[in-house]
Amino acid sequence: DEDLAVLSASSENPDEIGYLPALPVLAIVGRPNVGKSALVNRILGRREAVVEDTPGVTRDRVAYQAEWMARRFTIVDTGGWEPDARGIDASVAAQAEVAIDLADAVLFVVDSNVGATSTDEHVVRLLRKTRKPVYLVANKVDDARLEPGAADLWSLGLGEPHPVSALHGRGVADLLDLVVGALPEVSAVAKRELGGPRRVAIVGRPNVGKSSLLNKAAGEERVVVNDLAGTTRDPVDEQIELGGKVWRFVDTAGIRRRVHLSQGADFYASLRTSAALEKAEVAVVVLDVTQPISEQDVRIVDLVLESGRALVIAYNKWDLIDDDRRRYLEREIEQNLAHVDWAPRVNISAKTGRHLERLVPALELALESWDTRIGTGKFNAFLAELVAAHPHPLRGGKQPRILFGTQASSRPPTFVLFTTGFLDAGYRRYIQRRLRELYGFEGSPIVLNMRVRE
Ligand code: GDP
Repeated sequence: DEDLAVLSASSENPDEIGYLPALPVLAIVGRPNVGKSALVNRILGRREAVVEDTPGVTRDRVAYQAEWMARRFTIVDTGGWEPDARGIDASVAAQAEVAIDLADAVLFVVDSNVGATSTDEHVVRLLRKTRKPVYLVANKVDDARLEPGAADLWSLGLGEPHPVSALHGRGVADLLDLVVGALPEVSAVAKRELGGPRRVAIVGRPNVGKSSLLNKAAGEERVVVNDLAGTTRDPVDEQIELGGKVWRFVDTAGIRRRVHLSQGADFYASLRTSAALEKAEVAVVVLDVTQPISEQDVRIVDLVLESGRALVIAYNKWDLIDDDRRRYLEREIEQNLAHVDWAPRVNISAKTGRHLERLVPALELALESWDTRIGTGKFNAFLAELVAAHPHPLRGGKQPRILFGTQASSRPPTFVLFTTGFLDAGYRRYIQRRLRELYGFEGSPIVLNMRVRE
């Protein structure tokens, strides 16, 4: 029947399903001004990542969904921070380190007019050691006369230089053909995990206690599990048994081996966070209760929301809280984190071990919500009841109607509503609120998409 045909067509539309976990990750690395942002824009085919980088300015978003020849992947743009002259080496090395840890393939961008610099050579040594595919991109080859400059880059020992012009598009299609050919279907880490332990990212500002939490969890409950048959252990992750079950904590290398940079630390923190979230199914955002909830804390929570992963909030250093601070904290939570009041909350002390055992039920609850599927019949009954109780307000004498709806995917639960007009934001929030009241969804974001029929 016609409606069903529309439904199945739309659930295959990538726009409808916002988040597919574990798309392969392509990282872009290079010195400032070699044209990384221009290349990202070119690959995305849109102007969103427009080179708005004021030097030193932190950008929140560093991961983008991209598609080439019907292959979808995530681009991690490591170029959001332009360091001062002294910091360049450290910054580019840090980019490379993150990229090598967390990406499935790396584009290493060099300005072919400048050639390789000593900064480049430092990174090249790191890149030569990885077994992941590395593409040497010779940028700013705006026409054929500039190709000899690109050829000089053979000397870097990273294989064939690929001459491109990010600005004009020259050579980019050929490069992308190669790259998507080399990318795995799903991120290599995730692939090993099919049916394996659930993947947890511990995220949060520096010094909130992430590594303490990890150490306490690993130390007390012991058992860092051996390789699953036929897999190689990824040194950036650790498997830890908690509450009688094995969990995979992703990118623990990033927690243990901290990159110390005076400037741009925020940027690398959010780069790490985005990359870890790509690989995780659920995030534990760690907050330090001795500190006021900061913008950076909220930004990290919002990165989790954007990633579509399940969310647990751990309020750490509870051993240090007093009554005064406690009252302020509750007020700060109401003010800054009301939009995630559905996330399970645990008040812990990584130092004393207080209430660490509550983490596992919280993770399980969040993942269960994240996995939830509501059948189409049940969902439409829910919608009918909801509309009967509280119809959409009239807009210009018309009333947008919901024709029917369906859950297009889980992880996170993603619903599509077919309507005769655009639903108000307030009404969409009402639907989400009712969904939570009836079905819980504790710990999971809910995505509500609309298909407006003319
Ligand atoms: P990370 O940067 O988020 O990994 O933070 P760390 O785990 O390195 O912790 C930062 C500092 O906070 C260290 O000095 C820890 O000993 C301390 N810390 C972490 N968790 C707790 C806690 O629950 N209580 C107390 N009192 N201190 C803690």
